[in-house]
Amino acid sequence: MQARIYTDNDADPSAIKPGPVAIIGYGSQGRAHARNLRDSGHEVIVGARSGGRAEAAAKGDGFTVMSPAEAAKAASLIALLTPDMTHAEVYTRDIAPNMQAGDALLVAHGFSIHYGQIQPARDIDVILVAPKGPGDLVRREYERGAGVPSLFAVWQDASGKARDKALAYCAGNGGTAGGAIETTFAEETETDLFGEQAVLCGGASELVIAGYETLVEAGYQPEVAYFECLHELKLIVDLMYEGGLAKMHSFVSETAKYGDLVSGPRVINAETRQRMREVLRDIQTGSFARDWVLENQAGKPRYAALLREDLDQPIEHTGARLRARMGWLQPGANAGQA
Ligand code: NAP
Ligand code: MG
Repeated sequence: MQARIYTDNDADPSAIKPGPVAIIGYGSQGRAHARNLRDSGHEVIVGARSGGRAEAAAKGDGFTVMSPAEAAKAASLIALLTPDMTHAEVYTRDIAPNMQAGDALLVAHGFSIHYGQIQPARDIDVILVAPKGPGDLVRREYERGAGVPSLFAVWQDASGKARDKALAYCAGNGGTAGGAIETTFAEETETDLFGEQAVLCGGASELVIAGYETLVEAGYQPEVAYFECLHELKLIVDLMYEGGLAKMHSFVSETAKYGDLVSGPRVINAETRQRMREVLRDIQTGSFARDWVLENQAGKPRYAALLREDLDQPIEHTGARLRARMGWLQPGANAGQA
């Protein structure tokens, strides 16, 4: 069955009026949501800790800025847009004591709620609006009169209006202009984690590294291997992004297409798919989440060591040298696209 796509006509902005809406956290998502909602006619206040970059940035953008606790108290919809690993602390300390029955807590990713990092009070609405893009794109598309497609979901409906509030917020942020799809906290959280682990960040980077190392190990020049396995990935990704597999196929050579069809499944094979299922299982059982929360509580030693190793491998050194000569990548150059 195809998912229904919700548009502006499906949303009633009055569901989150008179407001104000509090945006807690003014980073990638927070800054975009705050400005989009304000330009959509909602009253918006920003909650930021004092002395931080967020506080200065939000003031610079003309917002009324308060402490997270004061903002939560003043608002009836509180969007918690700080990093996921801070949600438990910020919710418990600043938000929970300042929410009233029937108020709404909104997140842009379900991790903290789905994995029980936050146990929300029973008398509040808990909703999710997750744009499928980074904050700067969410803002840019809104300014163009369009929007970034978004997911929305309800975890807890105490007021009877939780879903209306999610749709109204989504519309104010440009999400229904871009087309919104209803999901659940479980689906949004688990698919988001799986995508970044198996395909986007983890899968793509390991595929690139494995290809590069296979060529270098066979005696080819590292620079040539870099171009083939990393640099040219952008072209392929852009084509798939713009027009799916069909557009990618229509731009590459017949030889590339045939090689894709016969050799792709030899690399990503039944064993790889089995590993993907295992990664998904660790996400579904909460095992990955537990590991990541504990790692954070311990001060992230394993994460830091793995990251150091990841950034100190040969492909990184080869790439840095080559990219230094790519004038269009240098700061200030007109790169044309992000
Ligand atoms: P971010 O850019 O890292 O911004 C974090 C903001 O939170 C900053 O304004 C920071 O303020 C503030 N902050 C950090 N720790 C805090 C604390 N302990 N108390 C109060 N404020 C604190 O975050 P983000 O990437 O926008 O992510 C926010 C949420 O959106 C997350 O749930 C994330 O999963 C979700 N999301 C992100 C994206 C994306 O593309 N980035 C896409 C979809 C959903 P200071 O300046 O004071 O440090
Ligand atoms: Mg990697």
